[in-house]
Amino acid sequence: MIRQIVQIGNPALREIASRVEEGEIASKKVQDLIDDLIETMRHANGAGLAATQIAEPYRVCVIEVNKNPRYPYKPDIPLTVLINPKVAFLTEERINVYEGCLSVPNLRGKVDRCPEVRIEGFDRDGQSLSFVAKGISAGTFQHELDHLDGLVFTDRMNDASSLSTIDEFAANYEEEFKQQVISIVKNYGS
Ligand code: ZN
Repeated sequence: MIRQIVQIGNPALREIASRVEEGEIASKKVQDLIDDLIETMRHANGAGLAATQIAEPYRVCVIEVNKNPRYPYKPDIPLTVLINPKVAFLTEERINVYEGCLSVPNLRGKVDRCPEVRIEGFDRDGQSLSFVAKGISAGTFQHELDHLDGLVFTDRMNDASSLSTIDEFAANYEEEFKQQVISIVKNYGS
């Protein structure tokens, strides 16, 4: 079912989401939540969606990038369902990249992200997952995991002056950002 995505200002976005008990992963409630997240993310052309964004306070998020019209420069990420995910930074390096969010409509802003992270958690079958994400894709995972701790990308901005509407971003910064993405993908492989 396509769910309503809550917007910045809604207290649900600020909740620290609760862990899903491992024994509950197979439950209809959790499986329906995952299906709703995938359907809602795809309907909105999101690169990811966290349960807090549909006002469900559980540590579940989904990520998928497949020639995304909202983010045409993002490298593809196959559909990934993460339950109780954790992130570990694997480098001191940071990249400063524009992000957007379905819960922060019409805005983009620059955020520092670690370009090499290990993500651990469970998939929807309850199998444990552990993988490394790099570059732009690493930022996408950090963005979604932040939502589970009640954070949105604007909280991570060091310099609010990069905040831009989508039209102003397209007119003034998108070309430069595309070049930056190309160089990040070259450096980190994704
Ligand atoms: Zn978001």
